[in-house]
Amino acid sequence: MTNEETNKKDFIREMVAKDLSEGYCTVPITRFPPEPNGYLHIGHAKAICLDFGLAQEYAHLGAVCHLRFDDTNPCKEDIEFVNSIQEDIRWLGFDWGEHLYWASNIFDFYYDCAVHLIKNGLAYVDEQDRETMRQQRGDLRTPGTHSPYRDRSVEENLAQFEAMKEGKFAEGAAVLRAKIDMASSNMNMRDPVIYRISYDHHHNTGNKWCIYPMYDFAHPLEDAWEHITHSLCTLEFENHRPLYEWVIDNCPVPAKPKQREFSRLNITYTVMSKRKLRQMVEEGYVAGWDDPRMPTICGMRRRGYPARAIVDFCEGVGITKFNGNTDVARLENAVRGELNANAERRMAVLKPLKLVLTNVPADFEEEVEVIINPEKPELGNRKVTLTREVWIDRDDFMVEPPKKYKRLSPGACVRLRGGYCMICTGYEADAEGNVTEVRAEIIPGTIGANPPEGIKCKGAIHWVSAKYGVKAEVRLYDRLFKDEAPDANPEGFLASLNQDSLTVISDAVVEPALAAAPNEFLCQFERTGYFVADRYDHSAEHPVFNRAVGLRDSWAKMNK
Ligand code: ATP
Ligand code: MG
Repeated sequence: MTNEETNKKDFIREMVAKDLSEGYCTVPITRFPPEPNGYLHIGHAKAICLDFGLAQEYAHLGAVCHLRFDDTNPCKEDIEFVNSIQEDIRWLGFDWGEHLYWASNIFDFYYDCAVHLIKNGLAYVDEQDRETMRQQRGDLRTPGTHSPYRDRSVEENLAQFEAMKEGKFAEGAAVLRAKIDMASSNMNMRDPVIYRISYDHHHNTGNKWCIYPMYDFAHPLEDAWEHITHSLCTLEFENHRPLYEWVIDNCPVPAKPKQREFSRLNITYTVMSKRKLRQMVEEGYVAGWDDPRMPTICGMRRRGYPARAIVDFCEGVGITKFNGNTDVARLENAVRGELNANAERRMAVLKPLKLVLTNVPADFEEEVEVIINPEKPELGNRKVTLTREVWIDRDDFMVEPPKKYKRLSPGACVRLRGGYCMICTGYEADAEGNVTEVRAEIIPGTIGANPPEGIKCKGAIHWVSAKYGVKAEVRLYDRLFKDEAPDANPEGFLASLNQDSLTVISDAVVEPALAAAPNEFLCQFERTGYFVADRYDHSAEHPVFNRAVGLRDSWAKMNK
């Protein structure tokens, strides 16, 4: 599949097509380089769709996208993060094949490149403290000043770098700096630090190393080592590109990758920084990384967002050079669109009210057929059992209805979905006036047919047999934040949390077949919304459903 065929057009895809036609490369190789220090979020999904998407589009040329764990910082490997990242990418529908890499596997290579730079007079060991170096950097208007260590001899630099490696310096007592240009208008080019000392344990190399390459040095070298052709990253790295190219030009690399930048994905009503997401998990504001309210991929999965909808949304947002804030309603619409087209329909009652059909015998049972779409039986055309007592939703009955109310009220005629038209003949209420039971009489012969002349059937309501229905827990999720831009809250993003983002209903009733539904079964509860059987908590004994999204955009309505 070429990108012409998928109709995807953006400046990155145009560049790759041009690079192929001009012979910069014959096979595009991309990479997705997460740091294994958190779970992937919807912003990562955008990068994944681009990196892996490009590889898919050029699969006929042998294109691949590498999954690279960017683990050059010493820290404990968190196997939980490593596993979740792989699972989430696969779930989105992408695959790295055999191309799984660890940046920490090539510490020797970075080290050799650093020594190469020193030998060519392009790097030096600086033994000043951080604060002094910071002051010497200057600012946008003032050029920096040279470190007194800048003109050390190659021999001395080699010896001192060796001493750094041998652990002869304390942390922070020396760094290796690239010797570029202290007067550069690009601050990143003012002799950036490329190696630092750390005595922390590294999950892969243990205590073998006590010097570690900085991101701006290691990343281009990782790309070159893996023969990446297009290293795609977000816009904040744009002014790091000259340094990226300097490293590639001055080190003994096996290939010459190029870095290009595109805009980050930001979404309204959420935060996307891993640090903030971690804080919410660790401080218990959410139940975990996969809490269905989280903007993480596993959270959205648990919420019932189909992978296809997430990919469609990312592709719809597109690849541009301008940072913006995408309306979360767009994501919800993508979910709704996908589920509307493909989710099976079922009936469930979230606020049950007993309805008794008084003109049928106590043991009355009849199989009725619910037809969703005659041409698409896979959407849930099926038989359900009607019994004398059924559950209907409290909102579908009113003693004194307003005009135009299309549901049940005393004297009104309404159809039980897939079944008979019935006329409401009365109700019971408790001392406080709360309705406890509704009575109705069915009109024989009205299954799939109109009631006799003179009776107007106002609409159809959903129901579940009281005899066969199964009690279920239903979790209704709303947006996690009540403000459009939580990051902009002067009191901190946590002050924007929506206190009502989770409502748990413990006594909903669902069609019997739903209890047996497999975990992650997606469906529409007719007239109610789209729901998923919880990935972990749902079982036949204790059915649990999460609301993915409502049938309509209720927030848009509220704002009007
Ligand atoms: P955070 O800032 O949330 O901690 P990060 O960028 O540090 O995220 P990484 O694990 O380094 O997280 O990201 C891996 C890749 O995902 C990078 O190439 C990065 O550019 C990309 N990425 C991260 N966040 C976004 C986003 N919001 N939109 C698009 N791409 C993103
Ligand atoms: Mg990062």
